[in-house]
Amino acid sequence: MRDDIKIRVENLTMGYGEVILQQDISFSVRKGEVTVIMGPSGCGKSTLFRHMLGLQEPISGKVYYDDTCFTDSELPTRQSILRRCGVLYQSGALWSSMTVGENVALPLSEFTDNPDNEIARIVDEKLTMVGLKGLEKKYPAELSGGMRKRAGLARAIALNPEILFFDEPSAGLDPVTSYKLDQTILELKKHLGTTIIMVTHELPSIFTVADQSVYLDPDERRMTAMGNPHDLIRNPPNESVKAFLTRNNTEMISK
Ligand code: ADP
Repeated sequence: MRDDIKIRVENLTMGYGEVILQQDISFSVRKGEVTVIMGPSGCGKSTLFRHMLGLQEPISGKVYYDDTCFTDSELPTRQSILRRCGVLYQSGALWSSMTVGENVALPLSEFTDNPDNEIARIVDEKLTMVGLKGLEKKYPAELSGGMRKRAGLARAIALNPEILFFDEPSAGLDPVTSYKLDQTILELKKHLGTTIIMVTHELPSIFTVADQSVYLDPDERRMTAMGNPHDLIRNPPNESVKAFLTRNNTEMISK
């Protein structure tokens, strides 16, 4: 695989039981870029996300990480690939009975031999990066929705992942909070060089963070557009992606 390609999805067909949701999806995720998986609700974005993380198996097709075929790999190889990935699920998925600090420390105590003081230092560093410095003693229920997402983000970056996966990070957030979260995501990309895959249907996020995007068409059940969203809105390859990208006030969102 080319050096600048981190993940390659090749001819992926996915579905549930007899129902084919999307077929023959192929795209590459470039190193150090944000790739957005976009499309209307129900088109299969989260399902694709789960396939890329091995949480669901394809009907056919493959997912490669660097030169390794993830889809064909046995569990130990999959686990070592997944250890290079951080994941932020929609809900933030924090343990409610643990403090924010304990949540962020969890992957560190599980996967490293770091002593407690080093873990505490890393927890402080990650919470600072996401704008939650000093809040390690709080419980998730004491935080706002946006802060919970940030805490989930701190946990996702605890092990310095090469690759970060976000499933609808702005879901349930007001526009200002969502904008701030997008800016934090861009800072992580800039400062850590992280490769990012994000599922979203939110136009402001798409136009702010995406270097690359793939569009899943719910009617055709295949990927019908790929590229930088600003290029796609200028030269839409089909009506479906055009309608999707222009469904709000485009002056606000197109730079
Ligand atoms: P998106 O993330 O684009 O909103 P999803 O990937 O969540 O879409 O879901 C795509 C479609 O697959 C939806 O129509 C949904 O009803 C269906 N679906 C999702 N999960 C399951 C499941 N576990 N079993 C059967 N159908 C499912």
